[in-house]
Amino acid sequence: MLFVKKFISVVCVMMILITGCKKKKFDQERMCARIDMQRVVALFPKTAEEIELLSSETQQHMQNVLEELYAIPAQTRTYPNTVLLYEQAYLLFFTRLQLLSVLAMLSDNAQLQLAANLAVQELQQFQVKNMIGNMQMYEAFSQYAVYGKDAYHTTKPVQNFLQHMAQKSIQEGKNLSIDQRSEFAKLNQDIGRLSGQFIGNILYDSRHILVSADGLKGVADSVVQTIHQDDQGNYILPANQSLFFSIMENCEVEATRKAYYLMFGQIAYPQNEQVLGGLMRKRHELAQLFGFNSFAGYQIHDLMMKTTKKVEQFLWAFAKDLQIYEKRDYQKMLRHLPPTVTVTSQGTLQPWDDAYVKSYYRKQFFNINDTALAAYFPLDFVVPAMFKQFQKVFHVSFEEDLSEGLWAPGVQSYRVRSLKNQAVIGYLLLDLYQRSGKKINDACHMMIIPAIRDDCSIACVGASVVVAQFAPPTPSVPTLLEFSDVMTLFHEIGHGLHALFGATRFTMFSGTQVQQDFVETPSVMLEYWFDEPEMLSAISHHFQTGKPLSNVQIQQLIAAQKFGRAGRMLKQVYMAMLSFYIFQNGHERELPKMISKLYKKIFHYVAYEPEFHVEASFAHLAQAYGAAYYTYPLSAVIGADIFKQMKQHGLWNHEVGTKYIEDILSPGGSSAPQAMIKRFLGRHFTMNAYVSML
Ligand SMILES: [Zn+2]
Repeated sequence: MLFVKKFISVVCVMMILITGCKKKKFDQERMCARIDMQRVVALFPKTAEEIELLSSETQQHMQNVLEELYAIPAQTRTYPNTVLLYEQAYLLFFTRLQLLSVLAMLSDNAQLQLAANLAVQELQQFQVKNMIGNMQMYEAFSQYAVYGKDAYHTTKPVQNFLQHMAQKSIQEGKNLSIDQRSEFAKLNQDIGRLSGQFIGNILYDSRHILVSADGLKGVADSVVQTIHQDDQGNYILPANQSLFFSIMENCEVEATRKAYYLMFGQIAYPQNEQVLGGLMRKRHELAQLFGFNSFAGYQIHDLMMKTTKKVEQFLWAFAKDLQIYEKRDYQKMLRHLPPTVTVTSQGTLQPWDDAYVKSYYRKQFFNINDTALAAYFPLDFVVPAMFKQFQKVFHVSFEEDLSEGLWAPGVQSYRVRSLKNQAVIGYLLLDLYQRSGKKINDACHMMIIPAIRDDCSIACVGASVVVAQFAPPTPSVPTLLEFSDVMTLFHEIGHGLHALFGATRFTMFSGTQVQQDFVETPSVMLEYWFDEPEMLSAISHHFQTGKPLSNVQIQQLIAAQKFGRAGRMLKQVYMAMLSFYIFQNGHERELPKMISKLYKKIFHYVAYEPEFHVEASFAHLAQAYGAAYYTYPLSAVIGADIFKQMKQHGLWNHEVGTKYIEDILSPGGSSAPQAMIKRFLGRHFTMNAYVSML
């Protein structure tokens, strides 16, 4: 019980802290998470027993609150006995689920990780069973919407909360008949199972190719050293994304590139053809249950884009713009092919030559050598240098804080403080080094404590962690980041800041919990900062000479970024169309034909390879993105428009930065994205800014 007591005492402190609020209308208005780093550390359970207790105590608490909520007669519903009651319980539930998820993914203690993983599953099952689709709970909110007469009832955040809950109740089956509801539950189960199979088939695909040492000519020694060898000394190339890019860009031997490319096109094939077919059918049935004629239509109607027509128009218009610049880039590249590469009889490149040709051109014409460039980006310089830039733009400071006692050694923690009023906004944690047992594929961001704005409009601190798998430093060489890693880190820290600045009245709107097709915009916007010489100079620092990149190097790097941009984005648009059409009018039998037709419409310079089954290993199809992978191209467009506007007012002008925080980050998910964008830009977004960067 020790741990539970400790947790409750923290909660009590939070409640005591709020009593100074002058506008307070009720006792214990809300559980404010205004805590310091020591208390953040204390929130994490430290043993498997504490984890078990936390899980059962969390479920019990939510169960009690739900029963309390049901018991109140409709006419006597008030803000504190209905909305606030639930919100406080949900804040606790959500935070604990996040804490346990962090341990399940990141703890360096295998036993804790296992216990946390079980606890996360328990809480998620509890959520599915008792919270999602709980019409009795939604009824309580709609009764308050009808009968509530207190001062809170008409306030904007509360109205927003009530509207959102009404909408959720419909999404979760309020208007369905009893039979339909059970069909809905069954479909969700089937979809969950098929998604799990789809992802599992990708993750556990063990195919590989064998290549002799000669077959790896051109690949950097530092990469070759990481590849395992068999007894005969052949190199074993598994299905690993980052190795794939490295081989496709640098390997001079066409046979290796071709074999590896074809192997990648076989990942999870043919098993996933059938799984995807099942997923398409089940999702289609689900959409029909709600009166939609496609899953894409069903998914998108709740998002910023609202209709499939708008998504389709956006994607095709964007593709057409990109193709103009892609043509310009390919025409240049085709005139300067590497000596061993030839074009097909149609004048196109083979798909396994594409990345190699691009990389060759980058090396020849922009003098870009990714390994040499990495010497300018030692991690321990880049992070504080990034923070210095954020300080200028967002008018906040980053102060190193206590990090002992978290889930693993080596985690860094920063207190983020507003320079306007000196208030602490939250804690940004960085867990960046490779560690065995760290269960992540790519760099990512996780919310730990949601940022909350209490009833007196005081922001209560949140906490967030950015996670990566960078190689740890050696005694002689620090951790050096490739330029793409620097961008990734910046992007993920962008999500972290969104989580901290997005302090909302209700937990479910806090931070990055925005509509799915808006969630990437703030982070993608930050990536454009790397088109600015001032930025590149500020964050580069050769680990031996201490010098930043020279002006010439900076210009080359910016030009190289710009050169490949249209082609890179066109690939994203293609994947977005794939995800959209598969769930828009996808008939499984027609799938291969549809994909080949789409590919040929989009790519005019690279031959189509029918044996490359991209759809079988496109994990996002089965995950939350579904039909909405267009989020990425859309964010690139909106992010560019926002960036350009900031640039017009001076990028390092914190008045613009503050307006950006107010309009785009602070509302979290409590405002409609279109309205937020319009408030900041003063108009609707357009593609012009993005196109001007090509
Ligand atoms: Zn992102």
